[in-house]
Amino acid sequence: MQTAPSIVHHALPGARFLAHRPELEAALARVFERGQFILGPETAAFETAFARFLGVPEAVGVASGTDALELALRACGIGPGQGVLTVSWTATATVAAIERAGAIPVLVDIDPDTGTMDPAEVGRVMSEVPRQPGWPAIRALVVVHLYGNPADIPALARLAEVHGLRLIEDCGQAHGAILVGRMAGTWGDAAAFSFYPTKNLGGFGDGGAVVTADAGVAERVRRLREYGWEPRLVSREPGVNSRLDEIQAALLGVLLPHLPAENLRRRQLAARYDAALAGTGLRPFRSPSGAEPVFHQYVIRSRARDVLRAYLEARGVPTQIHYPVPVHQQPAYAHRLPGARGGLPRTEAAAREVLSLPMSPHLTCEEIAPVLDALAAWREPAETNSSSS
Ligand SMILES: *Cc1c(COP(=O)(O)O)cnc(C)c1O
Repeated sequence: MQTAPSIVHHALPGARFLAHRPELEAALARVFERGQFILGPETAAFETAFARFLGVPEAVGVASGTDALELALRACGIGPGQGVLTVSWTATATVAAIERAGAIPVLVDIDPDTGTMDPAEVGRVMSEVPRQPGWPAIRALVVVHLYGNPADIPALARLAEVHGLRLIEDCGQAHGAILVGRMAGTWGDAAAFSFYPTKNLGGFGDGGAVVTADAGVAERVRRLREYGWEPRLVSREPGVNSRLDEIQAALLGVLLPHLPAENLRRRQLAARYDAALAGTGLRPFRSPSGAEPVFHQYVIRSRARDVLRAYLEARGVPTQIHYPVPVHQQPAYAHRLPGARGGLPRTEAAAREVLSLPMSPHLTCEEIAPVLDALAAWREPAETNSSSS
């Protein structure tokens, strides 16, 4: 009868610390004893290990996922006045990073089944851009693998090629996700990862990485993350201070080998949720064929989302909403960004309907059983009642 406290207890990153405590403490002691805290052997070792895990030549540690996106864009030559197509249905960080790079975000709607960028919408917007007064020329595509669910990246990569766009993947929620045998983060010119504490691979503070197969892009990110220095203490171009610190790198190095098993556990829990939803009328987002999602979140859609949320809460099941307000409707961005001025109806519908269920690789079968029971007993209201929520 203590379902709620036990599920909360298994929230990351506390559970992550308890699961790997001796290894993490040994790594911490190693860093303190060495006495080097910025860009040392731990960062270099983690960059090598993370690149090898993904199967890309280069990984460059930076201070956050947002910085990783900004520097990936800049290193790909994207800058002031250029248009970057992305989705509004994402973490605000995606859009904030595009503006930090000086570029102009142009937001497109999602595929309602998958919740990720709709290639048909990208094609439509690209054909309209020349006729839209005041729109920037589009130079890049930022594709978000939301909730750990790979977007239709093969189709999007083809579009990027046809239109001559740089392709950058936002892998903030997709560490280890695979599509048709290929890791998310290895499809584009560069990819940005976040190691924020709640991510599938998350540290104990902020952190991020740019990964790329392009040695020139990697070299430029390495330069940009330290004031554009080349050689050291001499700036060749204006850069920033955005470095992955030694403590985070050492701790992430401990956690990386456990990521595949933890992602597998997330998939097992997701399969249980899938089974519990049968007959309820609730729908999870669909993955494209050939996808192995990593369930950063397990998200369902309900026509009576707020009623369902209260129903689950009353049964001790904590839930969250990712995201309550799409980026194009947030005060900082509303009515300002090209592309979204006429509204993004599928994105806005998702914001009304989504609910994230408890998801952590540290959840046990006993802990999740009451959640499954509560879900299985739910019945979606008929479609005609959709306004009642
Ligand atoms: C977390 C996240 C980011 C930003 O990462 P930070 O490390 O918090 O800066 C960017 N994009 C997506 C999709 C994310 O989930």
